[in-house]
Amino acid sequence: MKLCRFQSLVFGAGGLPPGGGEFRPEARCGVIRDSVVHELDGGFFQSRRETGRAWPLAEVKLLPPAIPSKIVCVGRSYREHAAELGNEAPKEPLIFLKPPSAVIGPDEPILLPPVSQRVDHEGELAIVLERECWQLAPGSDAGPYILGYTCLNDVTARDIQKAEVQFTRAKGFDSFCPLGPVVETELNLATTTVETLVNGKRRQFAPVTDLLFSVDAIIQWISQVMTLAPGDVIATGTPAGVGPLAPGDVVEVRVSGIGTLRNPVAARE
Ligand code: MG
Repeated sequence: MKLCRFQSLVFGAGGLPPGGGEFRPEARCGVIRDSVVHELDGGFFQSRRETGRAWPLAEVKLLPPAIPSKIVCVGRSYREHAAELGNEAPKEPLIFLKPPSAVIGPDEPILLPPVSQRVDHEGELAIVLERECWQLAPGSDAGPYILGYTCLNDVTARDIQKAEVQFTRAKGFDSFCPLGPVVETELNLATTTVETLVNGKRRQFAPVTDLLFSVDAIIQWISQVMTLAPGDVIATGTPAGVGPLAPGDVVEVRVSGIGTLRNPVAARE
């Protein structure tokens, strides 16, 4: 099931949704089937009952598919990526936070801040939580706590990251957390791949089976520290091949079985 948050772009007479009803520009939740968005009553965390209203996918604006209270990121979780930045592969998950204010949706611009000379893409598989999770026991199945998976770009000011001990400034700029386009509730991680393209050219590619830590182990580790809430997002880390972005670029994060998260890049005024 592909879950999304969206706004209707259709406005005015003749532009009413096929199921009837009035134009309301607020954010809605939906499920996508055959390029049609079916509105859900009450969002992802209740019954997921369909209202009967539906829109062609081309007539909606997709929003970030989650509103996280926090974004927890795992660093250096693919061996080759740790090596390309001169780091050892960690023995335990290395985690850091991105602020919710960094989240943008599909097609929204990544804004390069003037204080950085080097901003990199990091395409990643992201987990979206469905249920509150605190202190998951070692060896437990995290599946019941997971709503599904989406694509995330852990945009990073690499020069600032290298100059500072904490990652907060390098990873926390507004627009540095593109998220979407959908949450896929049934993803087979045994066959899932993560790919990043810049202007159509592949920069990163790996199967998620290359992750040093399993999804269960990541959630177990994080939930010893903080309570994970419904809608929280965990970025599982990026494969080798990170590289710089420039104004005018278009960066795409593709996770097989989910879709493509596409964002243009612009200089921030
Ligand atoms: Mg990352």
